[in-house]
Amino acid sequence: MQNTFTVTLVETTLLTPKVRHLKLKRHDGQPLEFTPGQFVSFHFPAVEGKEIRRSYSLAAIPGQSSHIELALGYVKGGLASETLFSAKPGDQFTLSGPYGRLVLRDENPQRYIMVATSTGITPYRSMLPALAARLNQVKAVILLGVQTRTDALYSADFLAYANQYPNLDFRLCYSRETEKEGFLPCEHLGYVQDQFALLNPSPDKDIVYLCGNPNMIDAAYDILKEKGFNAQQVRREKYVS
Ligand SMILES: Cc1cc2nc3c(=O)[nH]c(=O)nc-3n(C[C@H](O)[C@H](O)[C@H](O)COP(=O)(O)OP(=O)(O)OC[C@H]3O[C@@H](n4cnc5c(N)ncnc54)[C@H](O)[C@@H]3O)c2cc1C
Repeated sequence: MQNTFTVTLVETTLLTPKVRHLKLKRHDGQPLEFTPGQFVSFHFPAVEGKEIRRSYSLAAIPGQSSHIELALGYVKGGLASETLFSAKPGDQFTLSGPYGRLVLRDENPQRYIMVATSTGITPYRSMLPALAARLNQVKAVILLGVQTRTDALYSADFLAYANQYPNLDFRLCYSRETEKEGFLPCEHLGYVQDQFALLNPSPDKDIVYLCGNPNMIDAAYDILKEKGFNAQQVRREKYVS
């Protein structure tokens, strides 16, 4: 088994009606070193001899937390969802990682466009300080797509950064709201990829990150390919089991 370690659940809270925030700590007391954007994998007991692993992006904002923080969307009947949604402080789990390449690279495009559905926003949350450090040279647009206003996880964190950094534009897109009444300027009706019509992404100046629901990622990537983007300019992480 690769670099696994044991963790204890310290705290579990509901972020939205469908998303649970987990705070875990390592048994050895060490912090988990990771590059913002990476994920860890849970190793659950084997079922019928088959190893069960599920991955979750690391949500902690570096400098604000020494815990392993994760945001878990509930999938009814899902093995990990049912286990982790009913977990209690003190419960222990086996993890490995960090893994993943959905990270900021040593480059300065004119603009980053970072697109997420639901818990797909998690990697961008951990990137916030590193992204902010670049915002004197680059612009960034972060798009979070959820079904309704109550599903908008971590939006306060992104709005706080957007208020502090004029080069950061944070937009919320609701696929199942129908009325704009009472909306903040950052709130929009429709799918995240609908925002492309307003942002006019260009392969000459933009680097795009897509994270979360595979259908959103495929739909967004199709639009971007039509505009001339290649695979290196569009970094994708599909949340699949
Ligand atoms: C790199 C990576 C990072 C990820 N990060 C996160 C994260 O930060 N937060 C997070 O919540 N998830 C994340 N995921 C998804 C996560 O790993 C699990 O796939 C998810 O939690 C479902 O696992 P489960 O065991 O509860 O359901 P499963 O037992 O795997 O699935 C149960 C049933 O639900 C279906 N199903 C699975 N996922 C979904 C879904 N999202 N919506 C609807 N139906 C579904 C399955 O096809 C199956 O029929 C990530 C996945 C990857 C690959």
